Amino acid sequence: MAWHKESPRLMSHTPHPGIDPNATAIVRALRQAGYETYIVGGAVRDLLTGMKPKDFDISTMATPEEVKRIFGRSAQIIGRRFKIVHVHKGRHVYEISTFRRTPTIEERKQRDNDDGVMVWSDNCWGSPREDAWRRDFTVNALFLDPLDEDCIIDFCKGREDVEAGIVRSLGDPLVRFAEDPVRMLRALKLVAQHEFRLNDDVAAAIHELAPRLAQVSQRRLYEEILKLTHKPYLSRMIELCDEFGLLEHLLPRASKLFLQEEERDAVLHLLTLRDERVEHGASLSRAYSLAALCYRWVEIRLNHGSKFGDGWASYAGYDHDVRDAIEEFMAPHNVTRLIAARVRDTLILVQRIRYGGKALKRLQRHPDWRYAVLLYETLADIFDWPEVPVHEGGHNFHHHHDDDEDEDEESAAASDDEDEDEEEGADADEDELAEPVAPGEINGETQSGKPKRKRKRRRKKKKSSGDGAAGGEA
Ligand code: ATP
Ligand code: MG
Repeated sequence: MAWHKESPRLMSHTPHPGIDPNATAIVRALRQAGYETYIVGGAVRDLLTGMKPKDFDISTMATPEEVKRIFGRSAQIIGRRFKIVHVHKGRHVYEISTFRRTPTIEERKQRDNDDGVMVWSDNCWGSPREDAWRRDFTVNALFLDPLDEDCIIDFCKGREDVEAGIVRSLGDPLVRFAEDPVRMLRALKLVAQHEFRLNDDVAAAIHELAPRLAQVSQRRLYEEILKLTHKPYLSRMIELCDEFGLLEHLLPRASKLFLQEEERDAVLHLLTLRDERVEHGASLSRAYSLAALCYRWVEIRLNHGSKFGDGWASYAGYDHDVRDAIEEFMAPHNVTRLIAARVRDTLILVQRIRYGGKALKRLQRHPDWRYAVLLYETLADIFDWPEVPVHEGGHNFHHHHDDDEDEDEESAAASDDEDEDEEEGADADEDELAEPVAPGEINGETQSGKPKRKRKRRRKKKKSSGDGAAGGEA
């Protein structure tokens, strides 16, 4: 590794085999059209720490419209406050953002209700250097050129910090976290994922500004939770959020439960086992992760005074109570109907597996059966439960929700639609379930994998606060 004298380029003599060829092809296409373009963000950081990046974000000199012109129908411009382009290649989506600079105070003040602190809009194009500096942490501000021996461009000394494992803010963390409180969660994610250490000023700023997380729109926080269900460090992240006072804003009920040390340990233990399974390739299904996350809460709601793992007895209409408990745990987030139903079914199926019996054979056809088995097995590691009996003609994999389907269902766009339904009081298609109902018989909303929901014209509702910060950046 050697420095280029005149530029912040570091030559890497060990090309990274982990770079996705599609990402390289996108960089090449933009470069050939005359636009400076790099792989940026988390992928570069992950490659340097020896992890396999999950997604590759790309940044370019081309504006979103220009990117769209180059990739045509496979490209889609999304977002308003933070405009990016999604380019589809095969089954993957690549986020392409235009180099930006930090907006000036004047540019920021363009909103009536602006207090001049939070960043609402972030669509001022800039140079690669400016783009590096408007990012959140030095370790997230590295650029990689896959067409030049995987050369790394390091404007902010991020490379040193990756090597030393330090989360250092670009600029004063008190200012940067006030601009966008989600950055506090992002700092903790770096600790959870890489075991990085927070620089002292970053740690102090989080302790001080934790309550500001409440200013962030509920929808954006929910997005953050959903992203975590795809990570193998959910347990550590929840633990850190608790430690730094962010959990009470992210998941208030979990934070309440954690006041009892025994409960806190129980939940974290379960999540650690979940993380190990995910790390070793287990499903990234949200049904599994969210069911693990709220398992104990639901158990207590249905079986007051129970000990962890006691479960609950079934009674007429208990599926509604399970569902209510899930929604209560997730509040103030509006879990979509589909995911709430899937988490409910997963939890109920775990109980059914425990009590065994002939019905199990039929229940194996339930679309969430394999996630229930996964959760049962995760719990069984703690409680020494017996193995799941598998009956002949067992698992029906034709109907299961695969993980990609998960992704589609729970995107922000899906919750947009849901909001509209609720606005218009369209609750008519709410579970047409006869009760009491066995999970295996649950049809309408889960078997098809899609909720029966009319698509309506998109009409985005402005949230009252905090929505504007640079969410889902690339
Ligand atoms: P992950 O591995 O979870 O994808 P990531 O760092 O790539 O981690 P992304 O949300 O994909 O996270 O964002 C890509 C990059 O965009 C980040 O590395 C960072 O440089 C920048 N970024 C994202 N969110 C913010 C933010 N809120 N403020 C400033 N920069 C951000
Ligand atoms: Mg990323």
